[in-house]
Amino acid sequence: MKTTADIRQAFLDFFAEREHRVVASSSLVPANDPTLLFTNAGMNQFKDVFLGSEKRAYTRAASSQRCVRAGGKHNDLENVGYTARHHTFFEMLGNFSFGDYFKKEAIEFAWGFLTGTCGLPPEKLWVTVYADDDEAAEIWLNHIGVEPERLSRIGDKPGKRYESDNFWAMGETGPCGPCTEIFYDHGPEIPGGPPGTPEEDGDRYIEVWNLVFMQFDRSADGTLHPLPAPCVDTGMGLERLAAILQGVHSNYQIDVFEHLITAAARLTGATDRDAPSLKVIADHIRACAFLIADGVLPANDGRGYVLRRIIRRAIRHGYKLGCEDLFFCKMVGPLAEVMGEAYPELARQRDDVAAVLEREERRFGETLDQGMKLLEQAIAGLEDAVIPGSVAFKLYDTFGFPIDLTRDIARERELEVDEAGFEQAMEAQRERARAAGQFGGGDAMPADLAAELPATDFLGYTQHFAERAELLA
Ligand code: ATP
Ligand code: MG
Ligand code: MG
Ligand code: MG
Repeated sequence: MKTTADIRQAFLDFFAEREHRVVASSSLVPANDPTLLFTNAGMNQFKDVFLGSEKRAYTRAASSQRCVRAGGKHNDLENVGYTARHHTFFEMLGNFSFGDYFKKEAIEFAWGFLTGTCGLPPEKLWVTVYADDDEAAEIWLNHIGVEPERLSRIGDKPGKRYESDNFWAMGETGPCGPCTEIFYDHGPEIPGGPPGTPEEDGDRYIEVWNLVFMQFDRSADGTLHPLPAPCVDTGMGLERLAAILQGVHSNYQIDVFEHLITAAARLTGATDRDAPSLKVIADHIRACAFLIADGVLPANDGRGYVLRRIIRRAIRHGYKLGCEDLFFCKMVGPLAEVMGEAYPELARQRDDVAAVLEREERRFGETLDQGMKLLEQAIAGLEDAVIPGSVAFKLYDTFGFPIDLTRDIARERELEVDEAGFEQAMEAQRERARAAGQFGGGDAMPADLAAELPATDFLGYTQHFAERAELLA
């Protein structure tokens, strides 16, 4: 069997052989981009190269980039445990052209790697192009020879120019352009339709690789400015490719996750290996450990609050499995076993990372049980399917339940949370605090909202990571 580590290496080798410079993954805390919560794609560290404001000694690069999508524009937190293909933390394999090759070579490379190196049968692969991108369609159909029924054109979302699954953008502003995506058909046993059809939401056809043809820089007013030289940015989920090559449907069945789920089952005492909570824990330990290793600490705002929310969700899933002991911090060891070789910075810091998690786990452990009892009582007394805002607020304020944690529990029980009521309770508390003169400027906001905003309090870290990125470069 090809391990995930082998696949990562095969990818980097393939592109090294094609004159790409293999570049190390950058930190999860973006070094040069205050608009970005966490590194969410391989291209982030090359943003200024794409924009033309930074020059490198090479025009082709390849990397396996650690990414977190748990806040900001790309947020997959709510998908974890529900789809076979989403993680909060994942590795994105990518090849990049900085004004070097463009659509034709990019498509040839991708096709060559998947059908050649990886040996995937062409008839299992489906492709999409942006509706207006005749050039890409032509390359697929006439040059590569993809069957027309396996190619679809994806247009804009209704009434929204340049908003499409096939128009990639890093954020509200910055580099963007049309893209072409490659999907893998996991077979008719799994529900779901091909890309571009109304049934596509299933997990049968899984998006594997996205090739972005970066042609524009979008400014704050939405206008597109052509980039000085068109570039290519591609991203392929390592775990998704590993699932295909290891002959399993779900990312959670690949070697790395098998190892983590086994550990999570042992540490929590869970008997049902298929329990979604084990997947969530296995997912969350990767995000949390790598964020901490990259210098983020649990906090009540900004990046640190996103981390705290993920940690607390994981701990609550352990509680749900009936675990009463510390378990989450003990997942760092098994994680380092399976990923420490590729990420020596994780292996090196494993004890420190575990210590940070242990502190947070003990701290939340003091209020989790009481909070859950309060919530259970409230749920038992519900007359409709809505958890009152006042309850969500009490959980937040007294028991340290981030609102999305309460939402996560509500969703499991097919309930909703009265978010407006929660906001009102928050606002009332702010009023009280203001009256008591606690907040000088009167501009405190719910930590939850603050977490969605670009962090303003991380200048120290920015400095730290800029230096670090230099060391890694
Ligand atoms: P999806 O539509 O499945 O949510 P995406 O279109 O949001 O994926 P891209 O932004 O195109 O993803 O990222 C490039 C590639 O990274 C994807 O094709 C996929 O293989 C992988 N990827 C994206 N998000 C995740 C995730 N949350 N977990 C694991 N892999 C992911
Ligand atoms: Mg997505
Ligand atoms: Mg997609
Ligand atoms: Mg995509």
